[in-house]
Amino acid sequence: MESSYKYDNNNGSRFRIREKEILKRYKVLLRSVQGRTNLEDRKIIRKAFDLAVESHKDMRRKSGEPYIYHPIAVAQICADEIGLGATAIVCALLHDVVEDTEITIEDIKRQFGEKPAMIIDGLTKISGVFDQRSSQQAENFRKMLLTLSDDVRVILIKLADRLHNMRTLDSMARDKQLKIASETLYMYAPLAHRLGLYAIKTELEDLGLKYTEPDTYQEIVDKLKNTEDVRKRFINRFTMPIKKALAENGLDFEVKGRPKSVFSIWNKVTKKGVPFEEIYDIFAIRIIVESKPENEKADCWKVYSMVTDFYKPSPERLRDWISTPRANGYESLHTTVMSPTGKWVEVQIRTRRMDDIAEKGYAAHWLYKEGSKNSSESNIDSWLKRIREMIENSDGNALEFIDEFKLNLFSEEIFIFTPKGELKTLPANSTALDFAYEVHSQIGNSCIGAKVNNKLVPLSYPLKSGDQIEIITSSKQRPKEDWLGYVVTAKAKGRIKSALKEEKRAMAEEGRAMLERKLNHLKLKPDGELLNRLAKNYKVHSVLDLFHDIAIGQIDLKTLPDYLEEKKKHRPTVF
Ligand code: MN
Repeated sequence: MESSYKYDNNNGSRFRIREKEILKRYKVLLRSVQGRTNLEDRKIIRKAFDLAVESHKDMRRKSGEPYIYHPIAVAQICADEIGLGATAIVCALLHDVVEDTEITIEDIKRQFGEKPAMIIDGLTKISGVFDQRSSQQAENFRKMLLTLSDDVRVILIKLADRLHNMRTLDSMARDKQLKIASETLYMYAPLAHRLGLYAIKTELEDLGLKYTEPDTYQEIVDKLKNTEDVRKRFINRFTMPIKKALAENGLDFEVKGRPKSVFSIWNKVTKKGVPFEEIYDIFAIRIIVESKPENEKADCWKVYSMVTDFYKPSPERLRDWISTPRANGYESLHTTVMSPTGKWVEVQIRTRRMDDIAEKGYAAHWLYKEGSKNSSESNIDSWLKRIREMIENSDGNALEFIDEFKLNLFSEEIFIFTPKGELKTLPANSTALDFAYEVHSQIGNSCIGAKVNNKLVPLSYPLKSGDQIEIITSSKQRPKEDWLGYVVTAKAKGRIKSALKEEKRAMAEEGRAMLERKLNHLKLKPDGELLNRLAKNYKVHSVLDLFHDIAIGQIDLKTLPDYLEEKKKHRPTVF
């Protein structure tokens, strides 16, 4: 194909136009990371760009566009919408090179170093479409999460890749669209949510819905459009007095009135059966204040106080995620107030920094890390730690692991206090026993009960946010089979399972000794054949079970001589 340019003038000029367009897109990308990169970084980015252009030069996307547009776009998303730096840009530019061209991971390592090679290797391993029924794909997804412990950028670039593929899904065949869109809704949108990438999560959900439920999607889009004018007028009238008061108090701010995403409206309509016209929180008002790090909290409450001077708040709907940020790093103050027209309106109050973190998530968080000390950094860390534990504890059953992971993705978290007032985050529905395992596996294994807010409660007691809990232990306690039904966290489940296994093994050892003594006494050798015959006779699954049941008295060794006598009698005489 490429060689024909030499002979065909028309094609030749088209080729130059294409080159120009590629360079233009590259320059836009460079401008986006200007402030975050030095000369050295920009050299490496250029090198990655050149290699990507060269390797993909004969390839086209389904839409007919040059393939290189895709890696550039993915890098652009990493830069603008996630706020990542040079290393991630390099990896994004090269993310499809190893999979689709002759270039190897070794080549990348030689030219760009260890880190980019490792990230691109992770990205290459998790390519392909994840099918909800296929355990191979579930296993791939598990691998992808395993790389979290190495470098979270693998996941972030993967999300950017997916976002661009969703934005350009139109040119795919219908069955492919459906597959990719369902996978996005099932796995990637929740993942973006959990990483605190709110803007990306919302867009993935909306695009997912657009391709899985095209008619419903269009219906909601139309309705939103038809009601736009009325909504704008309402928002203007509602925010006018607030804006005035904020300005008079010398605050620098921005007020946004944005409708809910199509996906979340669809969710309300279908899952809760609320008709579109009756969704009261179809939009939320967001007030973003420019604030110095030391004034953030005070400024937000100042705004809150001004808002509620004009409109009466609903006390049950106050959410303070500033004092206690959510585990994905989200900080904001939410209140729902009554408007003069009798409509409830949600108002979200936050600072510019909080807004950036809410929109761009984890990476934006890195950018702010140096400037101010804040507690949500440790929240992200503890979340990543929990993901790692979940992966480690999921003894190889990938599908079960995905379900558990999803469960943990969607569940909201609760905040629990230790007796010393230390705060711990757990998934909702966690019990006293979950908490015990959260503290330490030994505490969990020896837990006999707990005191919640100074009242004695059983192990299975479900915890609520704000509970203060003290675990009561006994050295005589052992984990029981039914404990598995008392816990929701993967960590606790894993620890109980391995303790039970350990327990069983120890018991079996005792049983083996008892049986051997008995057989010795009867002048019999405890060889494999005899043991298997005994297991069969006592109707247990394995020799290990035989030992175990002997140890716990389930099998009475007194019945053994009778059984052996019986056997002898019936044994045919062989000469
Ligand atoms: Mn790609």
